[in-house]
Amino acid sequence: MPEQAAASTHLPPQNHLGDLQNALLDWFAANQRRLPWRVNYTPYEVWISEVMLQQTQMERGVSYFNRWMQRFPDIATLAAASEEDVLRQWEGLGYYSRARHILTAARKIMAEHGGVFPSELEAIRGLPGVGPYTAGAVASIAFGEKLPCVDANVERVIARIFDVDSPVKQNPAAGIIHRWALRLVPDGRSREHNQAMMELGALVCGKKPRCAECPLARFCISLHLGITDQRPVPGKRATITPVNAVTGVLRCGNRIFVQKRPPAGVWGNLWEFPGGRVEPDESPEQATVREFMEETGFAVRVAAQHGIIRHGYTTYRLTLHCFGLEFDSADAPDSQITPPQPPLLSAATEARWVTPQDLDALAMPAAHRKLADKLFAIGKDSAVAANTAAPRQANLPLKKP
Ligand code: SF4
Repeated sequence: MPEQAAASTHLPPQNHLGDLQNALLDWFAANQRRLPWRVNYTPYEVWISEVMLQQTQMERGVSYFNRWMQRFPDIATLAAASEEDVLRQWEGLGYYSRARHILTAARKIMAEHGGVFPSELEAIRGLPGVGPYTAGAVASIAFGEKLPCVDANVERVIARIFDVDSPVKQNPAAGIIHRWALRLVPDGRSREHNQAMMELGALVCGKKPRCAECPLARFCISLHLGITDQRPVPGKRATITPVNAVTGVLRCGNRIFVQKRPPAGVWGNLWEFPGGRVEPDESPEQATVREFMEETGFAVRVAAQHGIIRHGYTTYRLTLHCFGLEFDSADAPDSQITPPQPPLLSAATEARWVTPQDLDALAMPAAHRKLADKLFAIGKDSAVAANTAAPRQANLPLKKP
């Protein structure tokens, strides 16, 4: 068995750091994935890729990265973009404050660094939203600084090789892992080494390690002891909170009502259909009408059911009941005239009546984008969708509150 063979030739890693480094670098040279930011290693590309990959898996990250670089090919273009545009490019990645920080940082680089990404660690750390991990990644991968990059992949690899026997996110394990990560970085090769560690964790030393293919097998203490399934030691799992919420799509003629959330808080500055949580002893339909009245002052009633959208966020699972709305008869405006402005906006900074095509340019939370796509086929054939928006609603069963 490969595991037994590897165990029989075990070389304690702490005594063979040079051999371990070389084995890892050789493996990376032969096995690294071709990724768009690995062509020129510009600080801008490394920065954007690192922040995106904190949000999503590699394949999806590459797709977002390519789209981003088409739209914002350099820092100057990014700095000149509107926040709306930046959020739209980020849409679906979550943690929208990170997108806003990237924009602020780009503007700071233009204003204070002459448009050139700073190379000193302290200056990189001084950019908005850049924490220790991202700063270390850019400094080492783009500028060759002798610093480690410790993401979840690297935590797992080090916990197994060095048999770290307590939860990796907490001390003492976190400190032990960082110290080994730093000791492992070879002089002059931090770019390749850091990426090799992350790549090994992603491709070989995953949740189910493929030790028979691992270039570090002979150094790995966990493999030697036969306990790879017990490393890393898991920490306390985050509690997932279910959220039962509603949203309503109000139309007037061919226009749809949307509002922009305040900058602070969840989904800051994103556009949404109004709505909120379902209170105890309240039906989703009642909640939709109540929330709409509270947030906009519009008196509405439910005209159609648009189904339920489920979406998982980091620590909660959203069940979003979706309804088509119309003005309550007493307030109903003539659909041929300009739609009315809301009497109040209690949960937003701005409101608009937009066409289905307009929705495509607005940054929306993932669940609301799913609803927009479902109703209007945005991005597939917007022109057709605009003409068929009303029949799509009419096809759904009507239900009055
Ligand atoms: S793949 Fe196996 S041998 Fe390699 S580092 Fe992970 S646990 Fe150790």
